[in-house]
Amino acid sequence: MGPSEIGLLATVGVTEVEVQKFPVVAVMSTGNELLNPEDDLHPGKIRDSNRSTLLATIQEHGYPTINLGIVGDNPDDLLNALNEGISRADVIITSGGVSMGERYPTPVYLILLTPMLDIDLHAQIHFGRVLHETRVSQQHLLPWRWTVLANLALPSQVIPCLLLLPATSCHSCSEEDAGDIRPTPTIIKARLSCDVKLDPRPEYHRCILTWHHQEPLPWAQSTGNQVSSRLMSMRSANGLLMLPPKTEQYVELHKGEVVDVMVIGRL
Ligand code: AMP
Ligand code: MG
Repeated sequence: MGPSEIGLLATVGVTEVEVQKFPVVAVMSTGNELLNPEDDLHPGKIRDSNRSTLLATIQEHGYPTINLGIVGDNPDDLLNALNEGISRADVIITSGGVSMGERYPTPVYLILLTPMLDIDLHAQIHFGRVLHETRVSQQHLLPWRWTVLANLALPSQVIPCLLLLPATSCHSCSEEDAGDIRPTPTIIKARLSCDVKLDPRPEYHRCILTWHHQEPLPWAQSTGNQVSSRLMSMRSANGLLMLPPKTEQYVELHKGEVVDVMVIGRL
């Protein structure tokens, strides 16, 4: 409930109402190479940025969070951490450990979590990749292609995800959806403020929306290189350009063209 609903209830003298509890979301990072943000760097190590970003994103949307820390790439520690998460939270978001490294013909990275969900936890795995389907093609979506969704005995869910989840959060629920927490993303039209090259895959491309005085549509400025490790391109982004895949005819979209944008942050 927001301030208006609470004000309305006060007006009619209602001081107790039935509400739905927000799910508790646990966040865990996986990887032997990860260090805590306060640790000194050593060769072969990087600081864990996903956990801080995910926790802040989830908290921004009002969900209570549990920080499960960094877990090394070994099955015993992962299983213990997942079990701890299952006992304390309704949803677990993990990062790392589900991708394969596309540049290699055989999987060279550790893919530990998905089999563990299946074999050790008997979770139901709903999907292990995100596809974008059109009438003519089926392709992995950029980013989020390595997202895995699984659930244990309801209501617990385990969601390992490689990439950050700005657009999967429930930032706007329609009135009918209120209560069943199904997100209905807000999609608006905006003008491109620069040319954007299309990828062979459909892409959700981070952008910054700004309104100019007396112009009906906002301008969408790309945040540049979208590689998932480039956190600077997340900074200030409040929209995702919903870009179609490249075709022989369309290899890029031009400045001034009108595109669909999914709203993911404050406008
Ligand atoms: P993985 O899916 O575990 O193979 O990870 C893919 C890439 O993301 C690797 O380069 C990892 O080092 C990096 N990575 C994984 N987890 C994190 C994290 N929590 N923070 C920053 N980078 C990460
Ligand atoms: Mg890893």
